[in-house]
Amino acid sequence: MSELPASVRIREVGPRDGFQNEPEVLPTDVKVRLIELLAASGVRRIELTSFVRPDVIPQLADADAVLERVRLPADVSASVLIPNERGLERALAHRERFSEINGFLSASETHNQHNVGRSVGESIAGLERTFARAEREGLRCEAVISTSFGCPYEGRVPADSVLEIARRLVAAGAQEVGFGDTTGMANPRQVRDFFAQARAELPAEVELTAHFHNTRGQGLANVLAALEAGVCSFESSFGELGGCPVPAGATGNIASEDLVSMLHEMGIATGIDLPALVAAARAAQEALGRKLTSHLLSAGPIDWR
Ligand code: ZN
Repeated sequence: MSELPASVRIREVGPRDGFQNEPEVLPTDVKVRLIELLAASGVRRIELTSFVRPDVIPQLADADAVLERVRLPADVSASVLIPNERGLERALAHRERFSEINGFLSASETHNQHNVGRSVGESIAGLERTFARAEREGLRCEAVISTSFGCPYEGRVPADSVLEIARRLVAAGAQEVGFGDTTGMANPRQVRDFFAQARAELPAEVELTAHFHNTRGQGLANVLAALEAGVCSFESSFGELGGCPVPAGATGNIASEDLVSMLHEMGIATGIDLPALVAAARAAQEALGRKLTSHLLSAGPIDWR
């Protein structure tokens, strides 16, 4: 086994990726309380919300209020998901409340059309303009490429075409590229090969982030494969919230508390207090009024006494 990193960075995406897939609109105060619990557990990167059109995703229509109300320690880097230049303009009304943006597209044409009604080329052009504007504002840009490991409409997505998109977005100003397994189609061998190629082909200063979904129970196996390929940055969601509604009924992102538990047991530092993170996931479970699917919520952290 190759050398594993001593520590990793984790971006919590539950407040965006998670909540956006909940049918019941959560009150803003509840979201703010849950985000503050996450920060108190030691999570240092949090995607707070998204500036998508409120009529498209009513759950995140309170993006302005969430940004204004949430109180975070100074060392937390807050990010917002930005669908386009209009979304960035809305977010910039709260410029001092976040430091990073996440701009997204899909690696496959069909998924991108379904998701944002544009071709991949049109999305890249939009992100070039968005990142240029964000850079002028001093914001750090992450490009998130959905369906990087497989598309529910098109099947296999060639690594070469995913990395070509990544190269163009890096040229447009992305300092970090997140590769999303949006519907849980990745396997560990594919992940190891993919990130080895990505690390070899993309500039060394670009942060490579893995965004796995646990749709088919392979999320943490894929994390291990990514670690072995040198990946030190992950995105996850407390309570295993969220994910793509395709296929219907599928589970969401890998659970932050399951990820942190595995990493700590392997001796890899995250800076997160696991019991406090589990408590935050439990608070989300209570707020949503249904059982969430993370393993740690049922089993709790390992007690080695
Ligand atoms: Zn996700």
